[in-house]
Amino acid sequence: MKEFNINSLVRKNILELQPYISFRDNNEFENPVLLDANESPFGEFNRYPDSTQKKLKQKLAEVKNISVNQIAVGNGSDELIDLIIKVFCEPKTDSILMMNPSFAMYGFYASINENKIVKLNLNENFEIDKDEFLNITKVNQLKIFFLCSPNNPTGNCIEDIEFYIKNFNGIVVVDEAYIEFSGKKSCIELLEKYSNLILLQTFSKAWGMAGARVGIAYSSDEIIKLINTVKAPYNVNSLSLNKVIELIDMKDVVNLNVENTLNEISWLKTEFQSIKCIKKVYPTDANFFLIEFEDVEKVYEKLLGKEILTSKRSPQIPNCIRINVGNREENIQLIDVLKSIES
Ligand code: PMP
Repeated sequence: MKEFNINSLVRKNILELQPYISFRDNNEFENPVLLDANESPFGEFNRYPDSTQKKLKQKLAEVKNISVNQIAVGNGSDELIDLIIKVFCEPKTDSILMMNPSFAMYGFYASINENKIVKLNLNENFEIDKDEFLNITKVNQLKIFFLCSPNNPTGNCIEDIEFYIKNFNGIVVVDEAYIEFSGKKSCIELLEKYSNLILLQTFSKAWGMAGARVGIAYSSDEIIKLINTVKAPYNVNSLSLNKVIELIDMKDVVNLNVENTLNEISWLKTEFQSIKCIKKVYPTDANFFLIEFEDVEKVYEKLLGKEILTSKRSPQIPNCIRINVGNREENIQLIDVLKSIES
C-alpha cells in the first residue's frame, strides 16, 4: 500500500471542523418518540432522511465487497466532486488537474472555490500522454487529479489508470460514471493499494436514476470521514434513498439497461456507416458517441430544428457532436434526420 499523509493534503479548517451528528441516526432505538428535530408529526414524508444513509451503504458494501466506512453518498456524483474540492483545496491557493477535453463540472466547482484549473491535453486518440502528465505534475503544485474513465465527452476508457494514481502526489479521483457500459473492470480493487484514490460512481446512467440524484464515492475510511464532515446533513432525500435501495435488489434492471444500450450502439454503428455527413465515429465505452461531421453547424441545427437535442462539442473538439444513445424509436428519428443531410 502506498501510504500518503492524507491530513497534510486536507485544508486545515476542515481538519478542525466537527461534523454535524444526528443523535437519532447514530444510535439504535426500538420505538422512539421523535420530538428532537422540529418535524411535523403529520404526513407521509414528515421525517428527515437518515443522515448517515446506513441502509444504502450496507447494501453497497455487500455488493462491492467493501467496508461501510469506505462509502459516501452524494446528491449525484456532482455533489461529491464539489465536496472533494471543499475538503482538499484551499480557496484562491490550490490547483486541480483535469484532462482536456473532459467533464466540465470538475472545472466548474474548482472555479466556484477560486482554485486554479490545470488542463492535461489528451492526444489524438483521447489518451493521456504519460510524459506530458509527468511533466505537468512536476511543474505544477496540484492537489487533485480528476481522471474520468470512460471519459465524457470522448467516450473512451483511459489506459493504465494505476500509473497515474501511483505517480500523482495528491488525491486522484477516478470518475467511473459510465463504467457499466464499458465491460471493463472498475478501479475499486485499487483502493486496497492506494490511500490517495477516490472512486466516483453514480445511479444516473446505467441505473437509469438521474432524477433521483444519487452518487457514490468509495475511498479510505479517512477520506470518507472528511467528505461526510463537509456534506449537508440530509443531502439525499428519503424517496431517492428508498428507491435506489429497492433497485439494487433488482440487479437485472441495470443489466437489461446496459444490454439494451449496447444493442442500440451496435445498431447505430451499422446505420452510421451509410450516412454521408459523418466523417468519423469515435469508439465508445459509454452510452454516447462522439461524432465528427463534415459540416457540424448544419447537422446540429438540422437536428435541433426537429427538436432532437444533442451536445455540440465544437469548437473545443473541432466539428464534433456528442450524441446520447436513445431507445430504438429515438435512434430511428436521429438516423432519419442524419440521412436527410446531403454531406
Ligand atoms: N461524472 C461524469 C463523467 C458525468 O458525465 C456526469 C453527468 N453527466 C456526472 C459525473 C454527474 O452525474 P450525477 O451527478 O448525475 O451522478
